[in-house]
Amino acid sequence: MALRDVPGQPRARTLLQNAIRSGRVAHAYLFAGPAGSGRRAMAQAFAQTLFCEKRGEDACGECLECRKVLHGNHPDLHTVVPDGASVKIEQIRELQRELSYRSPGAGRKVYIIEGSETMTVQAANSLLKFLEEPPSPVVAILIAPGPQSVLPTILSRSQLVPFVPGDPLELEKALIAEGCPPLLARAAVHLASGLEAARALAQENWFAETRNVVIQLGKETPSRFPAVLLTAQQQVFKTDLSEHIDILLQMLALWYRDMIYVITGREERMVFSDQSEWLSRNAWTRSLGSWVKAMELALTAVRRIKANVQPQLALEQFLVHSREG
Ligand SMILES: [Zn+2]
Repeated sequence: MALRDVPGQPRARTLLQNAIRSGRVAHAYLFAGPAGSGRRAMAQAFAQTLFCEKRGEDACGECLECRKVLHGNHPDLHTVVPDGASVKIEQIRELQRELSYRSPGAGRKVYIIEGSETMTVQAANSLLKFLEEPPSPVVAILIAPGPQSVLPTILSRSQLVPFVPGDPLELEKALIAEGCPPLLARAAVHLASGLEAARALAQENWFAETRNVVIQLGKETPSRFPAVLLTAQQQVFKTDLSEHIDILLQMLALWYRDMIYVITGREERMVFSDQSEWLSRNAWTRSLGSWVKAMELALTAVRRIKANVQPQLALEQFLVHSREG
């Protein structure tokens, strides 16, 4: 992936490209931002650009160096991920050993530490010495949720690269550019945080079917009781979708939010844009407050599943309660 392909983080990208253009690449960067904001993709893209034979301000994606990074076998790119719950001192020592080997003709090395906020104090102190006196030209990329999630001594030795939460519209555009069906892309970016998670969700073979069933349940919930219970029985509980009731309920919440968008005149934000005619016709059959309540009930059911309520029960109770709205 090239830097230009990481969606929604123009500030971080500009900062990194300016460093490359001016020849002032720092020894250490802290990529700070929420999960799903593209920190990992940007770190990979930055490393690839630093290795790229074209020496431009973005990776070409075609040279041998780029391809090695893309295939995950570049010898001078090292990635550390938390071992269990934390990044441990043994991992930092191992990294230091690997970086101290001098491969012939090798220039700069790059290492990425994911979950830097989980570093044990010993690991962080060991890394600190290393940040101060790297054995060879090295660029460190530390990934963490925020600047305060690493020790101040590490923060002060790194250049901060802030990441903002992913913008659903940017993520949607990126997914569609990759060939994802637009209707699925729009739903997925509202249900998963970040490009990778949204892509994975949209590619699940139950996802499109979940969307179809949500449309049916959504159309039946306001008035067609108990038919809606039969629909749930036949199309959810007796099928593969029974494994994904939490996503189904989250998607139902988006359906009710679309009703709210109709009433408040923000139709362009609809997730179920292919159903806009039906939604526009039926949104006015209930009050705004009643759609808000239906949306909240769906999200409450999702929380109950997270709290270990049986998913089938949570969905059934939701369907019964939403009838009363
Ligand atoms: Zn290249």
